[in-house]
Amino acid sequence: MTPNSPAAIGFRTELRQDGGHLTEPVFAARGSRATWQERAADLTLHAVLLHSGAPDEACARARGRTLVFAGELYNRDALHRLLPPGRALPGTDAALVSALFDVYDLHVFRLLNGRFAALVTESGRALLATDHVGSVPLYVRVAPGRVLAATEAKALRDAPPGRPVPARPVRRKTGTHQVPAGTVLDIEVATGKCVPHRTWAPPLARRILPEEEATDTVRRAVERAVRTRAGGSTPLVVLSGGIDSSAVAALAARRSAKPIDTVSMGTDAADEFPQARVVARHIGSAHREITVPIAELLRWLPHTVWAAECLDPDIVEYLLPLTALYLRIGGPGRRVLTGYGADIPLGGMHRENRLPRLDTAVCHDMDTFDGLNEMSPTLSAVGGHWTTHPYWDRDVLDVLVSLEAGLKRRHGQDKWVLRAAMSDVLPHEVVVRPKLGVHEGSGTSASFSRLLVDAGAPRERVREAKRLVVREVFDQVVVGGRHPDDVAIDSVVDAVLGAGVEPATARLSGAAARPVPR
Ligand code: ATP
Ligand code: MG
Repeated sequence: MTPNSPAAIGFRTELRQDGGHLTEPVFAARGSRATWQERAADLTLHAVLLHSGAPDEACARARGRTLVFAGELYNRDALHRLLPPGRALPGTDAALVSALFDVYDLHVFRLLNGRFAALVTESGRALLATDHVGSVPLYVRVAPGRVLAATEAKALRDAPPGRPVPARPVRRKTGTHQVPAGTVLDIEVATGKCVPHRTWAPPLARRILPEEEATDTVRRAVERAVRTRAGGSTPLVVLSGGIDSSAVAALAARRSAKPIDTVSMGTDAADEFPQARVVARHIGSAHREITVPIAELLRWLPHTVWAAECLDPDIVEYLLPLTALYLRIGGPGRRVLTGYGADIPLGGMHRENRLPRLDTAVCHDMDTFDGLNEMSPTLSAVGGHWTTHPYWDRDVLDVLVSLEAGLKRRHGQDKWVLRAAMSDVLPHEVVVRPKLGVHEGSGTSASFSRLLVDAGAPRERVREAKRLVVREVFDQVVVGGRHPDDVAIDSVVDAVLGAGVEPATARLSGAAARPVPR
């Protein structure tokens, strides 16, 4: 396995009773492709793998079973202890999961702490598994005698229609469903019968801990998550200077013999460069600043939707500046650590002092993250890089979600337990720095709003206009298969606002019926 990315970062697989296969799939993720066909029991498996140089390492074959694994594991040591004594340790994550499948069957997926999507096929079955939070999206189309699966919905675009399965349908893609987070679908290929098994759910109960025990628990969990993600070479941390990414950078720097790399993005409208510099100086990182002009940033919106296959305009605003950053990093593929996601279990976006509201927000966000694809590796894979998110490590997430709300909001501070846990590795000004979302700090939200208002959207309808723009882009690049380079954001905005360009599938009713002043 290369130190920077897992053996495979994506796949499309087709299992059929009667041979034959589809045309080459389109993926947004960049990677070398390996394509092969094999007979597995009485089925034909046709697979296309996006890999990083050693495709065999992403597959394991044993006792008539084939396993295809995109992603990586973070609890290998614990998993090794479950193998029968005296057995040689498997050299790859795919082989490790396959060896444990011998012992646990599909329940092996309850044991894994990782970032992956997987297919297992044996004895006429297809098992499709996501990690605990579905951080590597996985889509499926099922018909009697045929099971198709892919890590990007667009890779199933040319497949014949499928039948309903117990999973979320993808908008305007009949028969394509997204495998839920923390789930294994157990499918009988001959009949298409599909049984879901949940392998993880967010904790509902809350733990009461003394301050020191809470901060120690958080520190140990985040430290371990950073260590298991750092890989063999110098990691790159995408750093804003906010507490979440600064903590990841500081912990990564402490365990690295050499200075780590950090990078910050800003635009001509806004940046957090001074804040990030304070952290970079403190930890001694090799730091870079990348400025993306706002006009260029907004042009990457179709690429963001193409990569994340996301319909939520708020999420697209968070992901857009990061996509632009990943596209600008350049050089050989990097292993990128991010502080993304800490706010969800800690209620960091929640800016008021009342605990019941905070826990209501945490419950809501943990109930609704699935399918947003915020952590999709494709976002950085369009630039050739592999990202990983320590705060959404299974053990870290379990700890952070389950802490009682008074440890999250305390002494007048949001994310108190995280700030206190990191107080010895960061300057005080960083520990107490108020939250600033990436969409705010980069000026992305404000610039997207301005684009819409300038194009004629009434101010009170801007939010709705953003939703429609994102939906229209989704329909073009995910459903319609257009390349994002061919989708001009200005034309989409004009179409959505009814400005008389090509007919749009989504129009902002009641908005700018007049010609748009441009
Ligand atoms: P805080 O939530 O307290 O502001 P944060 O800035 O680290 O902390 P977010 O604002 O939620 O976290 O941003 C999510 C993640 O995106 C960050 O942890 C960081 O990895 C990345 N990120 C955000 N802004 C930038 C930026 N300007 N440059 C590089 N990476 C960024
Ligand atoms: Mg921030």
